[in-house]
Amino acid sequence: MSKGNRLHRIDQLIANDFDLVIIGGGITGLGIGLDAVTRGLSVALIDKNDIAYGTSSRSTKLIHGGLRYLKQLEFGLVKEVGSERAILHRLAPHLVIPEKMLIPIFENRGLGFFLTYIGLSIYDLLAGVKSGDKRQMLSRSKTLHAEPLLKPDGVKGGARYAEYRTDDARLTLSIARTAMDAGLIALNHCHAEAFTYNAEGKIDGVMAKATPEARTFRIKAKRVVNAGGPWVDEIRKFDSDSLTKQIILSKGVHIVVPHVRLPIQQAIYFDTEDGRMIFAIPRDRNTYIGTTDTLFNESPDTVFTTQADAEYLLRATNNLFPSVQLVMADVTSSWAGLRPLIREEGKDTSAVSRRDEIFESESGLISIAGGKLTGYRKMAERVVNLVFKSLGKKDVQSKTRTLSLCQNAFQSWKEVVKYLTTVESRIKASGGDGLDSYYLVTTYGVDTDQILDMVGSTYSLEQRIAAEARFTIKIEMATTLVDFFVRRTGMLYFNPELIKDHIEVVLEIFRLAFEWDEARIQKELDELTKVIETAKIKIPLHE
Ligand code: FAD
Repeated sequence: MSKGNRLHRIDQLIANDFDLVIIGGGITGLGIGLDAVTRGLSVALIDKNDIAYGTSSRSTKLIHGGLRYLKQLEFGLVKEVGSERAILHRLAPHLVIPEKMLIPIFENRGLGFFLTYIGLSIYDLLAGVKSGDKRQMLSRSKTLHAEPLLKPDGVKGGARYAEYRTDDARLTLSIARTAMDAGLIALNHCHAEAFTYNAEGKIDGVMAKATPEARTFRIKAKRVVNAGGPWVDEIRKFDSDSLTKQIILSKGVHIVVPHVRLPIQQAIYFDTEDGRMIFAIPRDRNTYIGTTDTLFNESPDTVFTTQADAEYLLRATNNLFPSVQLVMADVTSSWAGLRPLIREEGKDTSAVSRRDEIFESESGLISIAGGKLTGYRKMAERVVNLVFKSLGKKDVQSKTRTLSLCQNAFQSWKEVVKYLTTVESRIKASGGDGLDSYYLVTTYGVDTDQILDMVGSTYSLEQRIAAEARFTIKIEMATTLVDFFVRRTGMLYFNPELIKDHIEVVLEIFRLAFEWDEARIQKELDELTKVIETAKIKIPLHE
């Protein structure tokens, strides 16, 4: 997606009359795009920022059944997303990776041993968990042995159950690529600004602005889906939609600390003293901790982790692992995401349902909000069913249940492991130490080969990062430095020190690909500096 490639896509967006235009390139919009295009519709998708810019790169990064929704008696939701986990693992085994979770159980706190057992049993049943992966209840000594850092006081036992971890932004990107291979015309950094209407007052297009090119144009559409996530109401306001069911936003933050400072043996799901549940998840050389759940009343574009958010998570973690005593200086990075929740009078944010909702306006706008990463496929199927109905077309069955998201490369985690070994040997043969193979394969899957081809005969970290920049520009729509360092590589969150060391080589590759002038270079560097500062915990002046 270098400069010429973007211009070509803009031409395609202008020239076609699409069955469907989707606003929003998060997992919801792209899931809908993939479902629709593989059912034979002509589809375009635009995102005002980047693919996965919104909540889809700022989640807990788990493909999970939502154990906590059992507490809210949301059995249907648990059953749907619980069963989706295994499907997503099969569709993208290098991106949806099995992970056992440990839940420590305390006397006089949380659900207790018996209710946890009952809850996990219902969970296994609803989610159709296979026998080898079913919950395991642990004695006190086994729990403390499994996680020696746990505060022993009051530990009654524990439970272990199966979930999957992912890279949310990369999962969203792999859906984007699969959809684009099937014919989706997608453009990031392209803002929907208004709708156009036909003589009957029905929406028949979207006015869009491609930001880097400063070009405004109309995209003709028979139907428009608003998958704007936290911005869904903002987009509904372009229309005459009366906004009967409004969205409220709940903020959830995660902080990252070096794994050596919180060297847990596995992912842990624990309850805090104020009754909330928090995850601590090891990833590469880090452990990340989250999330909070607080009402957010400002613009979704201005969400960040405050010092108070980080202190809350540090306090809860130090309470569980007293020998660790993390301090603010241990926090190397953070992210803050927003859950759009359907307003329910008299309920606080943590009690409001996480279920998705579809709204249709008089003028034909279909908006979808809420839901989870894990449930994206079923949400997409429902929305596209509705699109078919409203177009008066004969329905075609959804095909995504068996459509691999990784260029049909892997059928199982076992095959991923086999590929990992070959990548490791290849890196070693060109002078590297092979340690990067896990990162490369769980980030790029089988495309690792293309990246290694670009690295050439001598492997080094600098060469690898340069190859990633070229690859993500060419194949994955990386258009800005922030796209690359945040959503293509996750470097901002999990390896921020690499940004400083390799910015020059990456900048030069982007400059050449997009023909940036001095002003644009400065703008890119300013934006990157801003996201780096934001990730390192903000202290707003008015707090
Ligand atoms: P988004 O990803 O926010 O996408 C909306 C997109 O619309 C954005 O990219 C934005 O740029 C674009 N947009 C907005 N306005 C315009 C416009 N005018 N023109 C063009 N584009 C526009 N789910 C799980 O399954 N597992 C988890 O572990 C998990 N953890 C979570 C943790 C937190 C803290 C939060 C907040 C949510 C979590 N979720 C999790 C839920 C999940 O992340 C979300 O349901 C999902 O990412 C929502 O995706 P989306 O596409 O609807 O929204």
